[in-house]
Amino acid sequence: MEHSGSTRVQQFIGDPLTGAAPVERSKLEEIFRDIQADLRFDHQLNGCLNCGICTATCPSAHYYDYSPREIVQLLWTENLEGIYDAMQEKIWACAQCYTCAARCPFGNSPGGLVMLMRETAIKHGMESAKNVLRPFSRVMLKLISTGNQLSPDMISRDAFPDWGPNISKVDAPLATLRKAIPVPTLHTTKTAWEVNLKTSVELYTIWEETGVLESLKAVDPNLFDVIRDIMDEKREEYSDWQEEQEEEDDD
Ligand code: SF4
Ligand code: SF4
Repeated sequence: MEHSGSTRVQQFIGDPLTGAAPVERSKLEEIFRDIQADLRFDHQLNGCLNCGICTATCPSAHYYDYSPREIVQLLWTENLEGIYDAMQEKIWACAQCYTCAARCPFGNSPGGLVMLMRETAIKHGMESAKNVLRPFSRVMLKLISTGNQLSPDMISRDAFPDWGPNISKVDAPLATLRKAIPVPTLHTTKTAWEVNLKTSVELYTIWEETGVLESLKAVDPNLFDVIRDIMDEKREEYSDWQEEQEEEDDD
């Protein structure tokens, strides 16, 4: 690898046989800059001995073609193409258990660095991010529209055949049983609990301000549109409720 000045960024990027660059160098630099720009980056990467302790203790490395040592080395040596390659598949194998962070003699957090790479993959709308997140669209929609991802009425014999005879415990008059729970917000069967309208609207603001919705737009524009409509509707509902309250206060 060539070194230039104070940086370790490799100079040649491309297929060693054809010399063709699979991705523009400017794009690779932009992706790496985005990973590095995160405030957490400097706390999570302090150097690397290449000792492999992280990989030796990593549960994902045990089962997949994945090594946190390799990921840290790619970032530490600023191997732009290698970083891009790892973002196509390998980074999605991490279980985010942070065993590696507890073991690294340099105080690195390979799992934390993987998280930054995942966030960057989402920001850039990479195919790997779209593929990994696709099965979660339904969960995301449910979460945003109701505030919960699983409701009691979804727990049925058909949906959970692997529960065996235990499923009979939920094949019961759920509406009645839920009424017996002392906390009123748990009386519903359509959601795990009733989420306050104000809480929902506040969550929307957090998702907007922290860039969560922009990320969603990058990986699933259709879901983003549906969620936008739901948010607009709930905000309108909340504003009507506020007006009603003000009118009541005036009376
Ligand atoms: S956080 Fe990821 S990289 Fe670290 S030990 Fe757990 S699975 Fe492995
Ligand atoms: S344990 Fe730390 S120093 Fe050792 S290879 Fe992993 S990241 Fe590098």
